[in-house]
Amino acid sequence: MIKQILEKIEAYHIIIIHRHQRPDPDALGSQVGLAELIRHNYPEKIVKVTGTDVPNLSWLAQMDQVADQDYEAALVIVTDTANRPRIDDDRYDQGQYLIKIDHHPNEDPYGDICYVDTTASSASEIITQLALSFDWQLSDTAARLLYTGIVGDTGRFLYPATTSRTLEIAAHLRTYEFDFAAISRQMDSFSLPIAKLQSYVFDQLQMDANGVAYVTLTQETLKAFGLTDADTAAIVGSPGKIDCVQTWAIFVEQPEGHYRVRLRSKEKVINQIAKLHDGGGHPLASGANSYSLAENQTIYQELQALFQEKETKTLSKD
Ligand code: AMP
Repeated sequence: MIKQILEKIEAYHIIIIHRHQRPDPDALGSQVGLAELIRHNYPEKIVKVTGTDVPNLSWLAQMDQVADQDYEAALVIVTDTANRPRIDDDRYDQGQYLIKIDHHPNEDPYGDICYVDTTASSASEIITQLALSFDWQLSDTAARLLYTGIVGDTGRFLYPATTSRTLEIAAHLRTYEFDFAAISRQMDSFSLPIAKLQSYVFDQLQMDANGVAYVTLTQETLKAFGLTDADTAAIVGSPGKIDCVQTWAIFVEQPEGHYRVRLRSKEKVINQIAKLHDGGGHPLASGANSYSLAENQTIYQELQALFQEKETKTLSKD
């Protein structure tokens, strides 16, 4: 399959790369990192990246303008996106050939080629590995993007998905010229409003005796802090910093009235609960949608029930 991916990249003159909505550093790092690699190794090709630009990640990468007619003869590659509805820019199916490259559970195996490796920490790790197996030259710019993607999805090499291969790949990327300390600093710092939101989350967190916790962030609360849904990415891991918290949900009210549910867990697998509520994602980091306060409570009870069952699926930390 790896060989076929290379053949397709070599065969097409125009390549358009997509990733998921509400991008995180791995979505952008894998998308734009791959674009930079192709540009670097095949300078004659036209490579474009598309999706909505997000202000809080403008330091990492910017999107291109892509016209509808660009798709007519294009190879389209989608990185880091498990299911079709989450692909940013729904023209992804307008090209001649479609490739999916991802590390999430393969719930929606779309694409003419569907390359999914759930053992990879991040889509950026997969892209780097592909580049190495293609014998491509890496550039400083590509290395910076891919390294940032790996740092983002592993929580700076903290989460269980970090393997020895992840570290080897990251070490290789670090041999290129970019300011890795600035990236770590950037990803470890937040604005004063985010600091205040974090303090609100710690203050308002509801928790049971097993360490199952939740907090609700209403539109009113977000507005009071001058923040939006996108900013909640900065605090989604915060409850887990409390030693007794095991599993948690953050219910973020949307302007339309429903709730985006951000689910995280240290060991108990939670993505089956996300799937019951219009969502999905990784075993220990998933997202869902809830359409009422009552559904929020149901989700919380389902998380609590994980600790009552005798045998529930866990992922070991090592
Ligand atoms: P988030 O809380 O948005 O950072 O999401 C955590 C993980 O769950 C990410 O890997 C997402 O791809 C996945 N995810 C979030 N929301 C959804 C959804 N509605 N459907 C499927 N997967 C999702």
